[in-house]
Amino acid sequence: MKVAVVGTGYVGLVAGTCFADSGNDVICVDNDAKKVRALRSGRIPIYEPGLQELVQRNSHGGRLHFTTDLAEAVKKSEIIFLAVGTPPKKDGSADLSAVFGVAEGIARLMDGYRIIVTKSTVPVGTADEVRARMKRVTKQPFDVVSNPEFMKEGAALDDFLKPERVIVGTESGRAAEQMRELYAPFMRTGAAFLVMDNRSAEMSKYASNAMLAARISFMNEVANICERVGADVQQVRRAVGLDSRIGPRFLFPGVGYGGSCFPKDVQALGATARAAGYTPRMIDSIEAVNEAQKRVLFEKVEAYYQGKLKGRMFAVWGLAFKPQTDDMREAPSIVVINALLKAGARVRAYDPVAMHTARGVLGDRITYSRTPYAVLKDADALILITEWNEFRNPDFERMARLLKARVIFDGRNQYELEEMRERGFTYLSIGRPAVVPGAAR
Ligand code: NAD
Repeated sequence: MKVAVVGTGYVGLVAGTCFADSGNDVICVDNDAKKVRALRSGRIPIYEPGLQELVQRNSHGGRLHFTTDLAEAVKKSEIIFLAVGTPPKKDGSADLSAVFGVAEGIARLMDGYRIIVTKSTVPVGTADEVRARMKRVTKQPFDVVSNPEFMKEGAALDDFLKPERVIVGTESGRAAEQMRELYAPFMRTGAAFLVMDNRSAEMSKYASNAMLAARISFMNEVANICERVGADVQQVRRAVGLDSRIGPRFLFPGVGYGGSCFPKDVQALGATARAAGYTPRMIDSIEAVNEAQKRVLFEKVEAYYQGKLKGRMFAVWGLAFKPQTDDMREAPSIVVINALLKAGARVRAYDPVAMHTARGVLGDRITYSRTPYAVLKDADALILITEWNEFRNPDFERMARLLKARVIFDGRNQYELEEMRERGFTYLSIGRPAVVPGAAR
């Protein structure tokens, strides 16, 4: 099939590449000429495991092309995906200007039937609005399909190639059949292909993300209560997760969720509800708990040093909003580091892949080191923010020699309390008893 993908970011690049890999002819369009130049020379602008090789293989195979020219893409494609950004506006609602702008641009360029697919996360009613706007511009026939994306950054290829479900929102049998054919190569593992109306498809994405964010906020709240009543959230999490109605996944407390999806999608769902005259009490709480949770690690640092942070140096492990990505959007590390800097502390940080994106956000207000151990030298304490695998089993004695004191603030509960106790560390984590040498247990 001939496919175009407009917006070649995390979602568009992965989707376009996977469609090409299953034998389709794919044109990826982006208005960022620098990005397109890089992609044409086989360099991908993001970190996503396995993606670089797949882009190169399909580009060399002649199935994957990159351009800034929307006209070329519209002319050559039957199915056109919109994967542009939908960032939050000040009031939390989604900014749909790129979606509408591209849809109207496509409508002006169409010379026959096309299927326009919204893959970006868009609020309920967007497909209807896209349809209405396009109708004002073109007399050509077209269908608008809502096809929300559920991939996770860091595991995006696997998620796209082996989805748990594909959601297709459309009233058109013709469009549904084309979508079924396009997705057929990825459905062999027996995943569900759900066809529904546009509005339900759009809502499914927000409901899924809000539910996942709710699990995180819920467990963060449980963790905060555990700390105050002397329970250990690790034990509680295991016990709770063994209930098959609940399940063990996505129950890890930490420093709050970040990234380009949960924060903005929870806010946008709240805005949608309010616009429809409904007060979304639970959705609002998910967000409120998360905002507070992003500050919890800093508050532990502040309390430990009794507010005297001026002149101290902190080593930070992990900057990306989660492991396996270089994405810094809404990363909790930004909140923790800004709070430390504001309190007069200095920060030296290490992240396996996100240092260049972090530099874009934090600039030279902090320093960066190339190895996890180099950041520790003469630091007052280590603050672990992102749970990269390489932090799981560090050389604690080497760490102790480099640090000024054996102090770790762990925002991801990576280490065993008993081991920290035995090694003489002061160890403050999330929702678990504090380990303080010499203190009564
Ligand atoms: P992104 O910012 O990485 O990519 C968006 C791309 O669109 C950029 O390359 C940008 O240059 C391009 N663009 C913007 N306006 C354009 C225009 N007018 N014409 C051509 N290109 C244009 O964003 P992303 O993370 O890929 O997210 C895209 C959408 O998918 C969002 O709605 C997001 O909520 C949703 N989504 C993201 C993820 C994820 O894990 N990142 C997962 C599921 C859904």
